[in-house]
Amino acid sequence: MSKFCVNCGAELKDGGDICLKCGKLVNGENTPASTTTTSNTTTKTNSLALAGFIVSLCSLIINFAGIVGAVGTILSSIGLAKLKKNNEKGFGFALTGIIIGAFSIIWGIWSIINLVNTINYYL
Ligand SMILES: [Zn+2]
Repeated sequence: MSKFCVNCGAELKDGGDICLKCGKLVNGENTPASTTTTSNTTTKTNSLALAGFIVSLCSLIINFAGIVGAVGTILSSIGLAKLKKNNEKGFGFALTGIIIGAFSIIWGIWSIINLVNTINYYL
């Protein structure tokens, strides 16, 4: 199939992208005008919800007196609010992050009380 130059209307050789008559670069057949708008259709996972979930998971290993769990809970809560507002994915991550984070805070506080009791016992 022959193509024609959009600039001068001259017939182009098959597979040719440059018009031999006027020298204009001519794009090939069916080139989409805009390929950047496709990202709008796919909903992405909220990064804060995912980060909060990961931090909360880490708090199970490194509790640090419940502080890591508190950070995870805060990140997950912000992520949950934002993903609802922006209609993003990651609700499961945010919810799990909050639950695990809250558990880590309680665990952290319990550890401190336990530690204080142990110290008092030996004093
Ligand atoms: Zn031309």
